Amino acid sequence: MKAEIIAVGTELLLGQIVNTNAQYLSQELAALGLDVYFQTVVGDNMNRLAEAVKTASGRADVLILTGGLGPTQDDLTKEALAEVLGRTLYIDPDAMANIERFFQDRGVPMTENNRRQALAIEGGTPLPNETGLAVGNAIALNDKFYIVLPGPPKEMKPMFEHQAKPWILKHVLTSEMPIFSRMLKFAGIGESALETKLLDLIQAQSDPTVAPYAKEGEVTIRISTKAANEQEAAVKLDAMEREIASRLPEHLYANVDEPIEKTILDLMASRGLTLSAAESCTGGLLMEMFTALPGSSAVFAGGIVCYSNEMKEKLLNVPHDLLEGEGAPGAVSAETAKVLAEQVRLTVGTDFGLAITGVAGPAHSERKPVGLVYIAIAREGADTAVFELNLKGNREIIRLRAVKSLFYQLWRVLQGKQGF
Ligand code: ATP
Repeated sequence: MKAEIIAVGTELLLGQIVNTNAQYLSQELAALGLDVYFQTVVGDNMNRLAEAVKTASGRADVLILTGGLGPTQDDLTKEALAEVLGRTLYIDPDAMANIERFFQDRGVPMTENNRRQALAIEGGTPLPNETGLAVGNAIALNDKFYIVLPGPPKEMKPMFEHQAKPWILKHVLTSEMPIFSRMLKFAGIGESALETKLLDLIQAQSDPTVAPYAKEGEVTIRISTKAANEQEAAVKLDAMEREIASRLPEHLYANVDEPIEKTILDLMASRGLTLSAAESCTGGLLMEMFTALPGSSAVFAGGIVCYSNEMKEKLLNVPHDLLEGEGAPGAVSAETAKVLAEQVRLTVGTDFGLAITGVAGPAHSERKPVGLVYIAIAREGADTAVFELNLKGNREIIRLRAVKSLFYQLWRVLQGKQGF
């Protein structure tokens, strides 16, 4: 069965916003077993929107429209769809009550145009909006299925997950067995190296199917299978997971969709271990990523951003001779990384101390090349582990990869994979 995504919004055409909704929806639809052959972007224009709907319904069974459900005159998605389908629009009472409550709670008068956000298409199913005001819609007509979702991702994603997906499973994929998926998460390995190891499984389109997704700093494999029920699916998914894990035992860190820092947080919290960090070239990025996780306070005590040599000396007692002078190893060195990790651990008083120092670029420093980064892990009663990284990419990518590499090495330590 074929699906097509129509993202509505002139901002998308002008390049003012990126069409992340299409990316999210494509992944979700693929996981449901729906083939997406076309994605369309169309501006806030009634005629062109109607034309896009007509074209898409000529080549796809399921149309997913996102955006253009707001209160203003340029939000036309439901009007255009209703016109193409020959249906009228009505005010959905539940959505209207939700909108009125929103304004009452804030003590702000509701303007008349907000009623537009409660519009629903006759004969369809209104999809409640958990995180916003505009109601969505799902309509089945003449063997075609139309789903209307809001534009803001924080409204669109919960509406897809909690309303549209169950509707698709119930009304669209009725004759098909449901699809069950599992995300396998890898660190310390690039997408192409990982793909090489799994190429036979990816190409065979075996059951379960194996599909890679790469994001900067991490790689994900989604394994999916059709099965009558969850238990039957689990048997197949477990077997495939074991096969993949046996090929990449050093890199598979989770079988749920979470970043490696979350896996580390859970491992450390369950063992009552604590963490601190000293960051130079990453300027606090590691601490930001770790503390972005709810519950991180159970593990992360604090840290120090010591960007200049002066701060490395003053705040973390890095010897001057190590940093500067004829023949000194310099700030970007294994020696400095080691002292930073050990000193931050002692200063903050934690089980582990982490450190990152390197050249993020674009200019080199200390006559050392861009991408040269040292990371260190200090732990009470053990030798400090130091790793030299030669990272590729721009400043942003080098900084992110440095942090992710340190998380990867810490995960290995916690797994007992790193002699330590
Ligand atoms: P609103 O009620 O906020 O007007 P809407 O459903 O009318 O919502 P739009 O007006 O089309 O949606 O877009 C609102 C915002 O949602 C955009 O400014 C943008 O930030 C985000 N957005 C819309 N479409 C997309 C998309 N395809 N991908 C990512 N973000 C999007």
